[in-house]
Amino acid sequence: MALQNAYLKGIMDDVVKRNPAELEFHQAVEEVLESLEPVIEKHPEYVEAGIVERIVEPERQILFRVPWVDDSGKVQVNRGFRMEFNSAIGPYKGGLRFHPSVYAGIIKFLGFEQIFKNSLTGLPIGGGKGGSDFDPKGKSDGEVMRFCQSFMTELARHIGPDTDVPAGDIGVGGREIGFMYGQYKRIKNEFTGVLTGKGLTYGGSLVRTEATGYGLCYFTEEMLNAKGKSFKGSTVVISGSGNVAIYATQKVNDLGGKVVALSDSAGYIYDPAGVNLDTVKQIKEVERKRIKEYIKYHPNAEYHEGCAGIWNVKCDVALPSATQNELDENAAKTLVANGCIAVAEGANMPSTPGAIEVFLKEGVLFGPAKAANAGGVATSALEMSQNSMRYSWTFEEVDSKLKQIMVDIYHNASAAAKDYGYEGNLVVGANIAGFKKVAEAMKAQGVI
Ligand code: NDP
Repeated sequence: MALQNAYLKGIMDDVVKRNPAELEFHQAVEEVLESLEPVIEKHPEYVEAGIVERIVEPERQILFRVPWVDDSGKVQVNRGFRMEFNSAIGPYKGGLRFHPSVYAGIIKFLGFEQIFKNSLTGLPIGGGKGGSDFDPKGKSDGEVMRFCQSFMTELARHIGPDTDVPAGDIGVGGREIGFMYGQYKRIKNEFTGVLTGKGLTYGGSLVRTEATGYGLCYFTEEMLNAKGKSFKGSTVVISGSGNVAIYATQKVNDLGGKVVALSDSAGYIYDPAGVNLDTVKQIKEVERKRIKEYIKYHPNAEYHEGCAGIWNVKCDVALPSATQNELDENAAKTLVANGCIAVAEGANMPSTPGAIEVFLKEGVLFGPAKAANAGGVATSALEMSQNSMRYSWTFEEVDSKLKQIMVDIYHNASAAAKDYGYEGNLVVGANIAGFKKVAEAMKAQGVI
């Protein structure tokens, strides 16, 4: 699908010109603009109000220096980012990513996608994203703490429980959120829900840790059920072995499926007996080691160098849950040839445009990230609600709200696709359903 509408094409050209060399951002915008062609034709009032021109431009871009001292006493300097993209329907909300590949283009693509994802949850949260090119891998706890404190010393000026509420993402888990929360509290002298993904002893919500992975499976199960299928008895491949992948594995098991492969950035493991989650959690969450270690405990499993090879493993359902553009057109063709019937994105933008085209053409059920992985941010919004009430819901209460949200997202995206003549295309459906609520709010609030 290439952009046909001259007005949207003009906006896309401006985005490329204004944000040179930010390829991931261009990719994310182009996909949304393609989906919006039928919406623009039906709603000339959005053109008149300049909604699309405004939505592709972040409301505020914050870039800052993050100096810190390593264990040998040497001064290190990283770069910090916060892209406050859109606040039409609520305070900016979106995670922080710490990974050496982080630059403005990655944070913009994530922040832009977050606008539509957050809208799809039905909860009052705007879109934003942030992070740093800091690499927590191989750093001591003391180094991670000093980095987080320096990062938050600047970020604290820009965020607040009613302004902008960051959370975790790649490289930012419970440890990092704890260090950043402590520093925010110290600077502001206030105990508020300014970050989500907090520990359970200081305002965190039950189910937040599991939410993205669980939500991904609730969404996928609903998508499968609509075609008379389910996870029960299916073979599943999940890329990554971080927060999303681990809790997706747990929920696939609960739903009667079997996960046979997981990966990290170096390679993947294949365990035909079904991956042992306790071992993976010990290696990744406790020891913070490589997935390769798995075969030491399970000699019948195999380890293969190179993470892209995971898509050669035969499966019924694939859940890419590592990083952007990890599944290309060739990998998609291999999955189809091996009989894969459903793909749902746990990571953000893991499938390349070519891969998505293959899935849609071949009739593979395809759940795009904005819809399929929205459970994390939805549960973050539930954490914000609990913090505001100074009250906590039980695990079952949060889990059942999460499940309902994911089921609703599936049906809303599905209905929007049908309304605009793209029945079965959840990429178009999710983009349109997410866009319309934000567009209406922007129109109502005037040109700001
Ligand atoms: P984690 O840091 O917990 O885990 C990331 C996993 O992906 C690790 O196994 C990591 O391997 C692998 N990975 C990271 N970068 C690459 C790369 N360049 N190539 C191959 N593998 C890579 O992150 P999360 O599980 O939280 O996030 C995974 C994805 O899910 C991201 O796209 C994120 O944006 C998305 N997401 C996360 C949410 C959340 O709540 N956490 C919410 C919604 C989306 P290694 O250890 O070798 O780096």
